[in-house]
Amino acid sequence: MSAQSLFYIIITILIVDFLVDSIIGHLNAQKFDDPIPEDLKDVYQKDEYEKSQAYKTENYRFSNITGIFSLLLTLGFLMFDGFDFVDRLARSLTDNPILITLIFFGIITLGSDIITTPFSYYHTFVIEEKYGFNKSSIKTFILDKFKGWLMMIIMGGGILALIVWFYLIAGTNFWLYAWGIVAVFTLFINMFYSRIIVPLFNKQSPLEDGSLKTKIQEYAAKVGFQLDNVFVIDGSKRSTKANAYFSGFGKQKRITLFDTLIEDLEEEEIVAVLAHEVGHYKRKHIIFNVVTSIVLTGLTLYILSLFISIPELSLAIGVSQSSFHAGLVAFGILYSPISELTSLVMNYFSRKFEYQADNYAKETYAAQPLITSLKKLSKNSLSNLTPHPAYVFVNYSHPTLLQRFKNLKLEAPK
Ligand SMILES: [Zn+2]
Repeated sequence: MSAQSLFYIIITILIVDFLVDSIIGHLNAQKFDDPIPEDLKDVYQKDEYEKSQAYKTENYRFSNITGIFSLLLTLGFLMFDGFDFVDRLARSLTDNPILITLIFFGIITLGSDIITTPFSYYHTFVIEEKYGFNKSSIKTFILDKFKGWLMMIIMGGGILALIVWFYLIAGTNFWLYAWGIVAVFTLFINMFYSRIIVPLFNKQSPLEDGSLKTKIQEYAAKVGFQLDNVFVIDGSKRSTKANAYFSGFGKQKRITLFDTLIEDLEEEEIVAVLAHEVGHYKRKHIIFNVVTSIVLTGLTLYILSLFISIPELSLAIGVSQSSFHAGLVAFGILYSPISELTSLVMNYFSRKFEYQADNYAKETYAAQPLITSLKKLSKNSLSNLTPHPAYVFVNYSHPTLLQRFKNLKLEAPK
């Protein structure tokens, strides 16, 4: 296939992807004003519901604008030989193929991040601010940017350099080595996420002794779950929105509660949320996710290895000289319909796992405090209670509040 045909396929993929997203987003927006389902009537007072509708609408408009902007930016870059310009620039600075790749991706990722920063600024300091969610200062916002870049340069740059090096020494067999290094890295990050990444952005401290800790320990003992590590993180530094999550495995496993969660919920509700997180662990969702992500990475790298040496692949994005990095960009776009499909499947599993974790909490603790906690959390984040099923199918990693409510209300099978 010629580079030109590939170029048109790339453009088509970008546009179709945008249109599909827009249509699904539009369907979802049609339901913003739907009446609240009977079972969820107690989530919002009238004025709060109106506020949530305004919030949904504002976010929808905002995501339309950013979507169109990023489509036009990518198309413009492709049509006006932006990749060729950056490629030439990188080549003019060095002859080392690894450095050329690093400079090429460095300019593109950093450049696009800088161009889109006004959007994230607007989202945090205008939209989130207006609805009372934002707690982040300008200083935190800027520091977050720099820390994010630093992490990207060290970790992304390091892995990319290794992959190019493997390609230089092993040819198309590079994918096996690349897979190995990415797998090790994935396991490492999963294991030590809370120890290495989180401290860069947040303060976390062990949950203090008191009635909450006692309740948690009682629950952990009851289900036979070794739980020495319950941490509280200062989520309130950035947002009023609350969360809890599980990370690590083996001795490194820990549950992290946002300080905002502790603020918003009663102790029984917090234990119920924690029971849900324990459910994820007990039902082996953590391991499933890590293994699946490693397998999918291997598959993607293998398919990449089949195409990366074809010069037309890299020439398709308008560069004058074929290379690994240009091929990688073209492949990334050509492969995106497949990665959209895998993300659909992963979201499907994720929603199934949420039910399983909810059921675990229901069976080992209680359904009612989980229901009230989910309702409070939805209320406090002005959640959409009436999303369109197509939008849920594509984008939701969790079932809707109504679905979770109905599932939790079902009698537990004896
Ligand atoms: Zn969950």
